[in-house]
Amino acid sequence: MITGKNYIGNNLSSKGTKQYNTFNPQLNIKNEHVFTEATAEEIDEAVHLATEAFKVFRSISKEKKATFLNTIADEILALDDFLIKTYCSESGLPEGRAKGERGRTVMQLRMFADLVNEGSWVDATIDTALPNREPAPKPDLRKMYIPLGPVVVFGASNFPLAYSTAGGDTAAAFAAGCPVIVKSHPMHAGTGELVASAIVKAVQKTGMPNGVFSNLNSSGIEVGEQLVKHSGVKAVGFTGSINGGRALYDLAAQRDEPIPVFAEMGSINPVVMLPKSVKHNYERLAKTYASSITLGTGQFCTNPGLILGIKGDDLTNFIIKLSEEIVKIDPTCMLHPNIIKAYDAKRQKAVNQDNLHVAAEYAEDVKTNYARQTVATVSGKAFIDNPTLHQEVFGPYSLVVECESVEELEAIISNLEGQLTGTLIAHDDEAAQYPEIVSALQNRVGRIIFNGVPTGVEVCPSMTHGGPYPSSTDSRFTAVGIHSIKRWVRPFSYQDWPNELLPDELKNENPLGISRLVNNKQTTEKI
Ligand code: NAP
Repeated sequence: MITGKNYIGNNLSSKGTKQYNTFNPQLNIKNEHVFTEATAEEIDEAVHLATEAFKVFRSISKEKKATFLNTIADEILALDDFLIKTYCSESGLPEGRAKGERGRTVMQLRMFADLVNEGSWVDATIDTALPNREPAPKPDLRKMYIPLGPVVVFGASNFPLAYSTAGGDTAAAFAAGCPVIVKSHPMHAGTGELVASAIVKAVQKTGMPNGVFSNLNSSGIEVGEQLVKHSGVKAVGFTGSINGGRALYDLAAQRDEPIPVFAEMGSINPVVMLPKSVKHNYERLAKTYASSITLGTGQFCTNPGLILGIKGDDLTNFIIKLSEEIVKIDPTCMLHPNIIKAYDAKRQKAVNQDNLHVAAEYAEDVKTNYARQTVATVSGKAFIDNPTLHQEVFGPYSLVVECESVEELEAIISNLEGQLTGTLIAHDDEAAQYPEIVSALQNRVGRIIFNGVPTGVEVCPSMTHGGPYPSSTDSRFTAVGIHSIKRWVRPFSYQDWPNELLPDELKNENPLGISRLVNNKQTTEKI
């Protein structure tokens, strides 16, 4: 059932007066449920409960934490069709996508359950004492990761499940031992409440402390701002636009106690097409990229928004073929009228820039809230001179830059803003002939792809989803995969601490049997 209320810990609450509905972009009508925005008092209560819950949750056993995570996954699956229907009605996305994203969300929760159950992720590092060392004795030092405290998670409009309420940030924060307060995304508040109800059921079934999770409704930026400024909040996970992420990052930096904001933001994901490859494969590349640009109506942070090549007949052939292919694809629905409004405005702003040419734009009639896919072209020089062209146009849009030379191509890549991904398209041994291009690309991105497309983010330990600013606020961390847990922890050392008072992870006996670095040797042995 959707109540429209906030979850303040395990309790439903709606003390406020500000109300809103979600919107069905396919039907172009408001959805029926009315949501009540959280008040300042409710925000305070959620943070207070999270702070209290942290005292218990931070050191709960790894088995209990794993059971909690697995139970959340079970409860999400138990929501069954109601969740899928709500997701579709609030996003305009098709059922197949909803089910796929639910599968990914459940998989992420179970992945973190396995990680904490195994236990070695805490990176236990032990240097035993050398009391007779000269000129001074060496103390016994033992280090491991410990959780930061209550974390606020902002969900993204384009991933109502996998990057929202029980998405990657929440799963990783719980795994780390941090309570989570979700600032629910207003576009999918019903999906958010259903998933929140699954988490609360899991809290109750597995005996987790009340307040380990809260879900706050909001229709504007105020709730998020209050949360980020709240002294009880110790870290923030954000997925969304550069403007939003940067505003919250600045707010957190201005606090008396600044806190980390891990913001995963927009990106234009440059694709570098080397000359031989364009010559030999332009038809196949055009088809592949027409699909990638329009996938999910272009509403992916890894959408290929920028294609870079060397000017000439081959690149012209590619542009012509890409233009033919992309308009053959039926337009699809965007997430919300505000998203299509922003898409149209940003696309219009881009195509109005001097020296920019529209190569393809879907010209037939489209349904309300459906996006017209667009491909534009520009010279390398015009691109370098105009930062507006470097901005993300969130939707099925891509800009092809025709560079005069390899040197200009390298200069463009080197001066690009930080990106989540970079793709290199090369024929046979062509990549080896352009080491400076590869190295320039590597310097600007978090993940480099060879002869593929940037859309599609595999969830596995070796994935880096993040990159130099502004694709993320801290390029040292990934937002996807098990290592994303490191955003919610800090290293902590015990010096000469009595063995019986140490956490199990650091005790001589190694009762958890985890892998540890003991006197510079990785081992599961006891000391
Ligand atoms: P958004 O407009 O930035 O909104 C994200 C959330 O932040 C919303 O809940 C929004 O609240 C809140 N917010 C925005 N500005 C704020 C501010 N100044 N102060 C406080 N809260 C603020 O982004 P979106 O439309 O949901 O998502 C689309 C964007 O996300 C695209 O740019 C896409 O590339 C990016 N994205 C990135 C990743 C990644 O992993 N890097 C993944 C998915 C999406 P309100 O809605 O209430 O204003």
